[in-house]
Parts: sequence; C-alpha cells; structure tokens
Amino acid sequence: MDLSPSELIRYQKQIVLPNIGREGQLRLKKARVLCIGAGGLGCPLLLYLAAAGIGTIGIVDDDRISESNLHRQILYRTQDIGQLKIIIAAKTLSALNPEIQINTYPVRLESHNAPALFADHDIVVDGTDNRKARYILNQTSLLQQKPWLFASVEGLAAQVGFFSGEGGPCYQCLFPDKDVMRPTCQENGILGVIPAMVANIQATEVLKYLLGLPVSLLNTILLYDAERLNFKKINLSADPNCVACSKNKGSNQMNVEQEVHIPEMTLSELYALRETTPDLQLIDVRSPMEHEQYNIGGVLRPLDISLNSAVLTGSLAEFDPEKLTVVYCRAGKRSHVAAQILLNAGFKQVQQLKGGLNGASI
Ligand SMILES: [Zn+2]
Repeated sequence: MDLSPSELIRYQKQIVLPNIGREGQLRLKKARVLCIGAGGLGCPLLLYLAAAGIGTIGIVDDDRISESNLHRQILYRTQDIGQLKIIIAAKTLSALNPEIQINTYPVRLESHNAPALFADHDIVVDGTDNRKARYILNQTSLLQQKPWLFASVEGLAAQVGFFSGEGGPCYQCLFPDKDVMRPTCQENGILGVIPAMVANIQATEVLKYLLGLPVSLLNTILLYDAERLNFKKINLSADPNCVACSKNKGSNQMNVEQEVHIPEMTLSELYALRETTPDLQLIDVRSPMEHEQYNIGGVLRPLDISLNSAVLTGSLAEFDPEKLTVVYCRAGKRSHVAAQILLNAGFKQVQQLKGGLNGASI
C-alpha cells in the first residue's frame, strides 16, 4: 500500500510535519477507526478523521436526524431531517474525502455486537452520550486489549479520557456504580459548540495514537469548563476493587481468566497434532465476521461478552468433553476466557492457540 499522487497533494500540509511525513500518512491510511454514535460528538470527530485520511472509518448509529440535532450535529442539513444519520454521514464524508472507506452499521451498540465491531478496528471512539454504551465499550476494550476514548458533555462542561484497554485504570474505576443514572444532554440541554471542542480533542488523540506519538490523555481525564474557559487534567489510578479490570474479583469470569493457567500451543504444534489426533476438537471463538475473513477450520462458537460475564454462543452438545479441545481467537485473550468456560462446563482437556491467529508462529 502506498499513497497515490492525489493523496500526496491532499495531505501535503500534514505530510510536511516532521511528526507525520509520508510514513505517518500511510499509517493513517492503513488505520481502522470505529466511531460509536454520529451525533454532536460524532459529527465533528468524523469530519476531521475523514479529512485527515483515516483509511477505514466505521460508524455505528441507528438514529434518524431530527430538527433539534441541527444546532450541533454539523454533518446534517435541514433537508436531511428524518433520514438515517449514517446514510447522510457516509455521503457527506465520502464527498469530503473519496480516498477513504466508510462502513456503516445501523445498530445500537450492545454487548452482543460490540466484540465483532471492536475486533475489526484499531481504536474505538465514544460519541454516544450514553452510560450503558460506555460500560460495554469499557468491558469489550479490556477483553480485546484495545484502546477507546470516552467523552461526556453536559451544558457548558465536558470530560474526555483515553483508556488503553490493557488493564486499569478503566472507565469503571472512575464510575464504579453502573446503576447511577445521570441525565443525558437531551434531558439537560447543551450548547452546540461544546461537543465540537471535545470531539476535536478526541480526534487529535486518535491521530496521535495511530501515528505512534505519545497520547496525552492516557489514564487521564480532561475536564473542560467552557463557562470559565478552564481545562483541568486529572490523573487516574486503577481501583483495586474495580469489577471490570481488577484481578482481585473472583466472581467475574473475565477477571478469573487472568489468574487461571490454560495450556497453550503454537500453530505448528496444532497442525502437527491434527495429523496424529483426527478427533481433535477445534473451536473458533472470534466473531462471524472474523471467521468469514480467515479461518483455520475451527467450528465457530463466538464469545459473547455482556457487562459482567462471557458466554460461548451456540451449542456445545456436538463436542465431546473427554476429547482434547483447542480454542483460538485473534490475539489469545478471548480464547483464554472461552477455555475457562469450557473447563467450567466439564471439558477435561482444553488448550488455546498461543497469541491467537495474529501471534501464531509456525
Ligand atoms: Zn477498572
């Protein structure tokens, strides 16, 4: 993959920057960013990510454009009222930058679809203004060890932060009580320019991350008070009792998996074993989308992650718990959880592919 002559012209002002160059621009072209929500945060965020040359942008939103969106959701025009946001967003972004790929997902983020959506992207950006979605983002990010950016906006104030997904601190360390309901901007009102400010900070951090530059909001929350034009950064530390990221909570299956040892094998060991053990049971716990793209012959049983637990989708009845069973995923994290589910279900010999398909060494 290289930059075309027209891309070299389009991104000229970025490419001349010493931190970016042709190589950095190519990194952006290869990048895949998922934006959850195409509203007040999503609109400016998507415009800048598309303009900057992110090669593939996914947009998750099932909402339609209403008149009260227009004071802040700047991808849309008055004549678009009633249309699906993702349709208009994709059309506008493609017109802005025809060099990039826009993928639309007309769904609401739920625990059952989050793993597949995450798996296909390098980084995920929260533009939801929805607390339930943020807990799903947090949990999926921890499971797949993939970063996400959080933002929340209310009135003339906002918060924004970056979580690595590689352990604590996580969003739930910051907001441990999932049942506390806070008003959304739809209930409380919002000044239209505020989400644009926050979305620009999110977009900047996404670009820095993809370019390999240090991310300033890692494990940090930035508080923005527009009324006094104050910015305040707060460093976060992991909560040792956090149910999402702590290793101390034995009741949570996703945490248990960090403590239980599952025997591992390399891809070459797996191939060799298949020759000598024809009744070896091989299970692919990735999403159907990942399975379709590339698979090594495993039976598909996607790992479905809900807020506090994980289950294997589909029946296990066709497998023999007495026989050797090998599970695999993309990076080895989901297969680790899946292996424990199988052990808990009475399977006697469970192993996993070391490092998943990505890390598999022959
Ligand atoms: Zn946590």
